[in-house]
Amino acid sequence: MSISFLEKASAAIRDVPDFPEPGIVFKDITPLLLRPDLLEGVIERMAEEFRDCNVEKILAIDSRGFILGAPVALRLGVGLALARKGGKLPWKRHRVEYALEYGTDVIEVHADSISAGERVVVVDDVLATGGTAQAAGRLVAQAGGKLVGMGFLLELQFLSGRQKLPDVDVRALLSYS
Ligand code: AMP
Repeated sequence: MSISFLEKASAAIRDVPDFPEPGIVFKDITPLLLRPDLLEGVIERMAEEFRDCNVEKILAIDSRGFILGAPVALRLGVGLALARKGGKLPWKRHRVEYALEYGTDVIEVHADSISAGERVVVVDDVLATGGTAQAAGRLVAQAGGKLVGMGFLLELQFLSGRQKLPDVDVRALLSYS
């Protein structure tokens, strides 16, 4: 039986146990990025998920979301907005603080990156607990945008990230249980 494209993409994602802390299995996409055939196929499929949704903007999440979000935006012929970690953006911003296991984190977007009523898709590499994606969704709302959906390369199903995104059209190319 021939190996499917998604099986090849999955095989190129490296599991790194106990990184960045004990008990976490880090999904390292850098081997996949070294393979232009796989990267192109992944980008094409992520863009296809939202091809018929009249998307007007991609909001890519700091930092690996930028790598995937930029070419997805190009494929869909729409602009790219950056959801950055707190303190990185120089211009007027929307800001969302969200809870981590210990403490809080902040993501921000330039206020002029998303217009009122604009149809936005959030892009990131990994959906884990869903906290970051949920915060990105709140950024879209703050900016007055319309959240069309969220696209991920992979989803760690056992962390139930989708539960934090009950009304969101969540797409993930790969799912790990
Ligand atoms: P979360 O907010 O828990 O859904 O975490 C999502 C963010 O953390 C994404 O931006 C991912 O890049 C990163 N992340 C979380 N867990 C992992 C993991 N096991 N492997 C790689 N990246 C992860």
